[in-house]
Amino acid sequence: MRTILALLAWLVAAPALAQPAGMIPVPPIAPGPAPGPARIVGGPGPGCIAGAERLPESGPGFMTVRESRSSFWGHPEVITALKLLGTRAQAAGLPVLLMNDISGPRGGPLVGGHVSHQLGLDADVYLDVVTPRPERAAAASRDAMDPPGLVRPDQRGVDMARWRPQHITLMKLAATLPGVDRVLVNAAIKQQLCREVPANDREWLRRIRPWFQHAAHMHIHFRCPAGNPECGDLPPIPPGEGCDASLQWWFDRLDQPPEKKPPTTAKPSRPMVPAACGPILTAATASSRGRP
Ligand SMILES: [Zn+2]
Repeated sequence: MRTILALLAWLVAAPALAQPAGMIPVPPIAPGPAPGPARIVGGPGPGCIAGAERLPESGPGFMTVRESRSSFWGHPEVITALKLLGTRAQAAGLPVLLMNDISGPRGGPLVGGHVSHQLGLDADVYLDVVTPRPERAAAASRDAMDPPGLVRPDQRGVDMARWRPQHITLMKLAATLPGVDRVLVNAAIKQQLCREVPANDREWLRRIRPWFQHAAHMHIHFRCPAGNPECGDLPPIPPGEGCDASLQWWFDRLDQPPEKKPPTTAKPSRPMVPAACGPILTAATASSRGRP
């Protein structure tokens, strides 16, 4: 539970808390990836990345979607792992995967002020395992792709009309990729995995963690790659499969009356990043300095 609350604090309250020394307001971010070898600064939460790599528009077993609103840059090891997810999904007979937000070319806050997705270590992948599609599609049609969620309106379980055994296959593939720290999905999806994953194959289940929303996509979070001393990992996930009281908490909260929040007049705080992100977010790219 403490881990849940810590993670909650990180995702929900980090913008308000991220004012300590060593943080700066996000400067105007230069276009394209920051030059240099891959280097992540910050985390968990606000941060940035130099030397990010872009996930191609499409590849074996995957395509990127909602290009006009999304960002597809990540640490090179994360991009390699996501391509591997595509080839493994293809080998498992799944339809072409839809990849959504990873990070901006230099990390930092994404449009909408996402606190995660700032380090090139997070990727949203849709949980759509039923729609056959070509590996290549025009950007306009990829923009329109928005698969429905798997969770019932009452939030207490998955919609069994949509749920398929292939969802288990896909989430296992994600949770067993190299470098994966955890995979966030709606609590009802985690609950269904707890019910259905066979007893002799549950080692990966602990890395699937319940979270708010995430009914149509999973959020794959990778650990800081080796050689990134300025990158901060999340607290380790607790031992066990996570099919216990910590999961029940998500359903018990549905029985609580909604919290009444007093109206606030405070202005939203300006997004902050570690000071060492200043040069990374603003550095000129090789092309903008006139190099070939
Ligand atoms: Zn996400």
